[in-house]
Amino acid sequence: MGANTGIDGFIAGLPKAELHVHLQGAASMDTVLRLSQRYPEAGLPQDMESMLAFYRFTDFANFIETYVAVSALIRSADDVYDMVIDFGRDLAAVNGRYAEVTVTTDSHLRAGIAPDALADALTRGRRDARARSGVELAWVYDIDGGFGLPSGERTIAWAERHLPEGSVGFGIGGPEAGIRRDDYSDMFRRARDLGLHSVPHAGETVGPDQIWASIDALGAERVGHGIAAVRDPRLLDALAERGIPLEVCPTSNIRTGAVSRMAEHPLAVLRDAGVRVTLNTDDPGMFGTDLNREYAVAHEVFGLGEADLAELARESVRASFAGHDVKSRVLAEIDAYAPASP
Ligand SMILES: [Zn+2]
Repeated sequence: MGANTGIDGFIAGLPKAELHVHLQGAASMDTVLRLSQRYPEAGLPQDMESMLAFYRFTDFANFIETYVAVSALIRSADDVYDMVIDFGRDLAAVNGRYAEVTVTTDSHLRAGIAPDALADALTRGRRDARARSGVELAWVYDIDGGFGLPSGERTIAWAERHLPEGSVGFGIGGPEAGIRRDDYSDMFRRARDLGLHSVPHAGETVGPDQIWASIDALGAERVGHGIAAVRDPRLLDALAERGIPLEVCPTSNIRTGAVSRMAEHPLAVLRDAGVRVTLNTDDPGMFGTDLNREYAVAHEVFGLGEADLAELARESVRASFAGHDVKSRVLAEIDAYAPASP
């Protein structure tokens, strides 16, 4: 029997979708090292050993610092295009069929990429990733809360002017502490006017109040992370009743210190409360994970078997903002691979 048997083989072959993954955080360490060598003046590690040490985050604040430092390596539309193509390749390698990819547009604009060139890189990258790797990509634009309201304004203004094909969502990420979701409600209203769905990060590193604020002030249709909901039974009920899915990223939570041990991760508690849960990588390149690994964690730590894992894969498709044709195609592929028990 080869390696492609057992639960790992099942997971590897399972058609999947991903809803919470940052384009830049998805870049493999090879890609980041290549960019660092392309732009040595940025002062980031120039060899793999130092790069590995650089990626050993001490806490969430240090992760954000690292993330921001890496952002500064993406300086041209070609850098963005290359990341999209690499992402499509990596998604196909784990049998990913569809992904909603978060692009922090203002960090690319601050790095000097022209607004129209950025939109063009996303449009070409999406088209070429489909042709080369057979994957369907969609875009979520997120505000980095750490850069304040002017950065948020530039994010929504770029979307209003350029909106590439495949744009589906609008979010906010970065640090949460002290970043009031209410301050961004008007930007999210403008995003909804563009037809973009509201998908803010909330309740990753702070409490349930941030999730309530995201629902009430930002009209959240899905919540990035949202794991703090386990501390508030009334919020769990609200999420379950309204069918608001959470984008849960187990390895990310351990790597940033948002959760101290995987056995304490609230994934199972959320599912048991009837909350819609999807499995995601967040920043697979930075965290050394991939979508298969996250499904393996769900099996190894929480005891989910093949039927439950297939159901998680279906939930990601159902909770996505993909068009009807993509949704029904991927769901049919999952059903053919893992027929639902009667
Ligand atoms: Zn995220």
